[in-house]
Amino acid sequence: MPDEVVNGELPSLSGIGAKADLQVELTTPIVWSDLHRGHEPGGEIWVGIRTPGTELPERAERIRGELTAAGCRIVAAERHPDELLRAVHDEELLEYLASAWHDWREAGLDRDPGQDRVVPYLFPHPGMLPSDPGPLPIPAAITARAGRFAYDTMTLIGPGTWEAARAAVDVALSAAGLVLDGERSAYACCRPPGHHATPSAFGGSCYLNNTAAAAALLRDRGDGPVAVIDIDAHHGNGTQSIFYDDPAVLTGSVHVDPGAGWFPHFLGFEGETGGDRAIGTNRNLPLEPGTGDGPWLEAITGLAGWAAGQRAGALVVALGVDAAEADPESPLRVTLAGYREAGRILGELGLPTVIVQEGGYDLEAIGGLVRATLAGLEEGLADAG
Ligand SMILES: [Zn+2]
Repeated sequence: MPDEVVNGELPSLSGIGAKADLQVELTTPIVWSDLHRGHEPGGEIWVGIRTPGTELPERAERIRGELTAAGCRIVAAERHPDELLRAVHDEELLEYLASAWHDWREAGLDRDPGQDRVVPYLFPHPGMLPSDPGPLPIPAAITARAGRFAYDTMTLIGPGTWEAARAAVDVALSAAGLVLDGERSAYACCRPPGHHATPSAFGGSCYLNNTAAAAALLRDRGDGPVAVIDIDAHHGNGTQSIFYDDPAVLTGSVHVDPGAGWFPHFLGFEGETGGDRAIGTNRNLPLEPGTGDGPWLEAITGLAGWAAGQRAGALVVALGVDAAEADPESPLRVTLAGYREAGRILGELGLPTVIVQEGGYDLEAIGGLVRATLAGLEEGLADAG
């Protein structure tokens, strides 16, 4: 994670084309839930230090404000059955997340030792376990239980976390539903983000995988394979993991190279191409820190061409806008115009498209970046006819 938070004006993001972008009227429906506001992560524990964190409620509010100004229609998320969560997550993870905060408070841990969020302390590391451990027990101690499901210390659980995470999935599923009902595209304005959440574990500020839930719904009710293209600055390890053995979902991710020292560090390399039953259905395109529009857009063009070549019938875009140059959480240097062009490239596929919000932490820029991407997407879809 970076050491500094960059605030203030973004001169390089307001260059050529940027002002025009901000005048564009949009028609993409935005799916929304107020429940996101209940999730106040309360910071992150990073290298043992509690830092303020950047995955804040204000993120979604800024995006909504910008898109409302652009003319987008707000659609309230509808509650979906738990079965659609179980399509992408283990039952044990869902049960844990649903009760984690309640159990922590019941155990009095918020008073003694005085920890106001659920924080793991012990993890079942493979090196600690027998080579074939079988099903892992769920620890009796509430303090030990968190590490059974969390893979980092940065993703804290508080009073409204479950309701917000559950609602974020409903936002993504509702957006997928709009597309299944005939909208050409729909945008899921959700938080907490989801693409780092795996079938059985959570981390990276993500609890439930919103993008994956939308993709699974399109897979089960749509035509042909679904392509997930993740343009967040970080590798979508959770989404990759959920669909790694699924030949009906193509997963592509362009992100800063984990080998250059970036989250999620252990995954996101080019050699990860799919499990035995789905070889070739996963593509990772890691980029060097400092990469700007040119190579980033080339990578997205490559992923789009791949999805088209595989005859994808629908597209889910995991839209992280943290690849933008002033974002505090990544070293990529994509411009506002770059995001608009990315939207256009993806729109030109002409597929029913669900856009799901992932990262993006520069509060001044986040709304404009999403607006620019959706503007590009609408242009691309129009061009595709
Ligand atoms: Zn990210």
